[in-house]
Amino acid sequence: MQTDSKFYLIGGGIASLSAAAFLIRDADIPGRNIVILEQLDRLGGSLDGAGSAEDGYVVRGGRMIESKYLCTYDLFSSIPTLDGAKTVTQEIFEWNQVMQTSSKCRLVRGGRGIDAPEYGLSEEQILSLERVAVEPEAMLGNSSIADQFRPSFFETNFWLMWCTTFAFQPWHSAVEFKRYLLRFTHMVAGFNRLHGIMRTVYNQYDSMVRPLQKWLAEHGVQFELDVRVTDLLLREEAGEKRVDRILYKHRGRSDEIAVGNADYVIVTLGSMTEASSLGSMESAPVLNGKANGGAWTLWEKIAAGRPEFGRPGTFTDRIEQSKWISFTATLRGRDFFRLLHDFTGNVPGEGGLITFADSAWLASIVLPHQPHFIGQPEDIEVFWGYGLHVDKPGDFVKKPMSECTGREIMTEILGHLRIGREAAQILKTSICIPCMMPFITSQFLTREKGDRPPVVPSGTSHLAFTGQFCEIPDDVVFTVEYSIRSAATAVYRLLELHRDPPAVYKGQYDLRVLYKAFRTLHEMTV
Ligand code: FAD
Repeated sequence: MQTDSKFYLIGGGIASLSAAAFLIRDADIPGRNIVILEQLDRLGGSLDGAGSAEDGYVVRGGRMIESKYLCTYDLFSSIPTLDGAKTVTQEIFEWNQVMQTSSKCRLVRGGRGIDAPEYGLSEEQILSLERVAVEPEAMLGNSSIADQFRPSFFETNFWLMWCTTFAFQPWHSAVEFKRYLLRFTHMVAGFNRLHGIMRTVYNQYDSMVRPLQKWLAEHGVQFELDVRVTDLLLREEAGEKRVDRILYKHRGRSDEIAVGNADYVIVTLGSMTEASSLGSMESAPVLNGKANGGAWTLWEKIAAGRPEFGRPGTFTDRIEQSKWISFTATLRGRDFFRLLHDFTGNVPGEGGLITFADSAWLASIVLPHQPHFIGQPEDIEVFWGYGLHVDKPGDFVKKPMSECTGREIMTEILGHLRIGREAAQILKTSICIPCMMPFITSQFLTREKGDRPPVVPSGTSHLAFTGQFCEIPDDVVFTVEYSIRSAATAVYRLLELHRDPPAVYKGQYDLRVLYKAFRTLHEMTV
């Protein structure tokens, strides 16, 4: 590295933002030497939050975090909150002392809430779980979860809670499922009350992205928005691949950046929210494809003829298996939250996910602590929800969720909650915005070794891959933590800093953790 080396970070999600922060904090790179190129008009990527009380708020996702997000807390222990009063990590830990997740209504069946549902596993099903947990990844290969369990497993409360907490489907990767079992062993004991799930004070855009963006801006990092990178031109010298030029489009105009010999390029591969689309109270969102954004097309281009850069097709070509819909409801008036408080026994922010067990859409909702957005007016309340089976007709609205407007989605949720008299008024005063995400669980699709490239692929020393589609042993995708870990790994390896990110937590090697998980599973057998 030279003192004037430049760092081009492609994608403006948490992976690139954290890579920039690690470059500044741990490698003393001046912020002015770092450029973040983002195709959208704002930073944050999948970690989003936007909107207003008038037009309705949108969070495509509501994120759960937990105490072993070690890279996340390491990063944010250096980032002040927006008011500079403490670090973001301090804020998260202090907040979760005040607001501890303890659901009294994890499942709803037949219009009634169930407090601490039994897992309902048989001894045979527990043995299958244990087998998958110990079986080497190489042996699980590209099998699906359905390949590893009998159909009856998918009828249990354990599966219902596991699949809706993490968004797994039976056809998803058994390897990924195994990683989750191990990575979250320490949470099995309180899983039916969501014990150990932590939250940020506000939505994650306000609580994480904005403070980080502010810190990076203060350090001089350049953000180039509306810039879609269309290709990387690579040259090979003495067996080493280097990026020569970055081709991009900015407001319809094509241009390029010449990359010097001492410069570095870090690319966020793929994106779970790529090509997502919003509906409205009166319209359903449309289903887009990979051509509607730059993430997959860029990966396809650079991986063509270079197997060491992975196989994007594994993650892009099965939209039917990777799509689902989330929705954000903005409510003027307190009726809905009041009724839910009475129904669940939880105050907003305390309960976490509520899943409607007999919903054909397999719908769930979360009522976060209010306000959920900085600046959200006092008389406005916001909640989030999602459905996993979007092509099945609903139970109260006889249409597939994928064809439903925000109004119809709200109607379905009100139906599952058996809200009758107040329903019309709630509907009248709510703005529900559905969001179709074609690739939302693409990172869970069955895969083989080599489909995800390593963070620093072979034959490169100035190019790295971050995000959800590079391979990091033992850690779990569909998490903020994975993206931040990939960023730390990329920076430390590229710059040969002789340090590693905090090791992935492995509760499975702690006998106390293991015993508690084992005892809980067996105490709740059928
Ligand atoms: P992204 O955020 O996808 O960022 C990639 C960025 O690159 C995007 O901004 C994209 O526009 C840009 N880009 C792509 N291609 C190009 C190009 N060619 N040129 C320029 N820019 C480009 N995590 C948890 O830890 N817990 C949870 O409970 C949780 N729940 C979630 C629920 C939902 C509905 C969603 C959507 C996410 C959830 N996550 C959760 C996951 C977490 O938000 C993501 O893992 C993380 O934000 C991914 O960050 P990233 O930077 O790797 O990728």
